[in-house]
Amino acid sequence: MNEIIAVGGSPEQNLGGRLRVILSDLKDEYLQPHDIPWIVGFSGGKDSTLLAQLVCEMLLALPPRQRQRRVHIVANDTLVESPVIAGHLEVVLKRMGEAASPLRLPLTIAKTTPPTEQTFWVNLIGRGYPSPSRIFRWCTDRMKIAPTTQYIRSQVDASGEAILLLGVRRSESTQRARSVERYENGQRLNPHNSLQNCFVYKPIVELTTDEVWQTLLQSTPPWGGTHRELVTMYRNAGGGECPLVTDKSEAPSCGTTSSRFGCWTCTVVEKDKSAESFIEAGYGDLEPLLEFRDWLKAIREDGSMRMAARRNGTLNFVGEGRLIPGPFTLEARREILERLLAVQNDVDIPLISADEIEVIRKIWAEDAITMIAVKPAGQVVSTAVAT
Ligand code: SF4
Repeated sequence: MNEIIAVGGSPEQNLGGRLRVILSDLKDEYLQPHDIPWIVGFSGGKDSTLLAQLVCEMLLALPPRQRQRRVHIVANDTLVESPVIAGHLEVVLKRMGEAASPLRLPLTIAKTTPPTEQTFWVNLIGRGYPSPSRIFRWCTDRMKIAPTTQYIRSQVDASGEAILLLGVRRSESTQRARSVERYENGQRLNPHNSLQNCFVYKPIVELTTDEVWQTLLQSTPPWGGTHRELVTMYRNAGGGECPLVTDKSEAPSCGTTSSRFGCWTCTVVEKDKSAESFIEAGYGDLEPLLEFRDWLKAIREDGSMRMAARRNGTLNFVGEGRLIPGPFTLEARREILERLLAVQNDVDIPLISADEIEVIRKIWAEDAITMIAVKPAGQVVSTAVAT
């Protein structure tokens, strides 16, 4: 176990003392006389890395016979994660999985992904959903919240209840602080906002960003390796992270400038500063991805690439009869797929799977029949459309 260095002051005031309080709190909760599993939300970012480390250190300090309750370390992969982040997450999850047995840790390592029918590409290229924006951010629920919720539900179904440990911190952002305040009731465990029989535990809620870094820099992860890659990644990205999202109330941070470790396809942000910083730091491979993202964002505004009607056949008007265009036209969707495959070829990184392409083609075939009468938004007059 790492020895956290305590410098001066009372145990409550200095970092070492505060970490010991967190560890003792974790131990107390873990040793409660029941079998409710723990689920640690793990994004691979600094906060959830520290949380997973503290949980493992607490477990390692217990005699193996007391390590009875299962601890799930759960990460979410949207399948369009930035390749650098996805690579880091993969390495860390693998190390954790390999360390569990020799260290006699009761860990289950899991990664949730959206089902093929709900991936970014199937919705955007298949169904023609416009590239996500602040107004129509269809992706977070489908790619993040739903897959993780399903995992948590399966644990609740199996055990009756589950405790979700999150590396949320009050000082992380104003939005986060508000969300922390809204759901806190002075208890260690709080009912999850939308998941019945799931309780949320935020052990590092009071730590500051500096304290998180200080702790990580003074220690090594119990699952092996070092935190050097993590530090380098943050330095190169020059920013925050996209935390594991399990609730709509936490979703506003997804796809904003404060969460730069998001999907490489994210068109909710004006500029992908993280990708720009990575490219500046020498990740030239990311350049075609960034250009593609910028193009995806630009075509959202091009009426000639959008249908007049929504997928349910209705026309949507705002103000004095201004039409809000519907999905991308079939031609536009074909062009997006062609360009995406060209980029994939260029960078030699898997960007879309054969299964996704198959589902996309099926949706196109259905849409070609049902939406045949709909013209692109650029040519629309308010005529009736097929449903
Ligand atoms: S990072 Fe962007 S694209 Fe990814 S889920 Fe969040 S808002 Fe959607």
